[in-house]
Amino acid sequence: MITIAIDGPCGSGKSTVSEGIAKKLGILYLNTGAIYRAIALYMLRNNINSNNINSITDAMDKINIEIKYLNNEQHTFLNGEDVSKQLYSMEVSDASSVFAQFKEVRDKILHIQRNLAKVQSIVMEGRDITSHVLPDAKFKFYIDASPEIRAQRRINDEKIIGKPQLCFEKVLADIFERDERDKNRTISPLILVEDAIYINTDNRNVEDVVNDIYKLIKSKKD
Ligand code: C5P
Repeated sequence: MITIAIDGPCGSGKSTVSEGIAKKLGILYLNTGAIYRAIALYMLRNNINSNNINSITDAMDKINIEIKYLNNEQHTFLNGEDVSKQLYSMEVSDASSVFAQFKEVRDKILHIQRNLAKVQSIVMEGRDITSHVLPDAKFKFYIDASPEIRAQRRINDEKIIGKPQLCFEKVLADIFERDERDKNRTISPLILVEDAIYINTDNRNVEDVVNDIYKLIKSKKD
């Protein structure tokens, strides 16, 4: 069994890279951000205020998250509903990093993540995978990129799916805000752990990064 843990900020390319590595190795890929996003979607739908810890605790008891793989693609189910396509609005992105600050939210997700890694080889990607969820993973990577490049990528992605042009300054401000929350929260912040390999993806394409990581894993696998 092989466990690969990958962390990094939003827009660093870590999801695409992680998926590419998992495909090349023929193992499972888990995007843990999707779980935080599904919980945020529940909170938004039910008008749960992030200042009200009691309502967050109550909501967590009512939330059931399942991950299923359909045609090799991760689908995230919130109380039985496949919400995978509803997780990537700006609103859900912001709310996910707000609710991700709470222990009540993180504890529940921790079990889902560890249970999946216990029974199979996996590439798991998020913010606290190398530091907290899978600290004993044999392979750890931190994938980074400058905020400006990450903002531009976000704008390009939206253009590809035909969404109206986003404002660069607004996207950049949003990235700074999310980084600030993810890197400075009290519980399981995004950090570069000592035993992770740091990769900056500015000016690099996905295939290159995937190939580098793949070669490294192959050379050290046995
Ligand atoms: O990776 P993605 O941008 O989809 O994650 C959405 C949000 O979920 C992040 O901004 C972060 O606050 C939270 N998250 C987290 N820990 C993880 C994965 C995501 O706190 N392992």
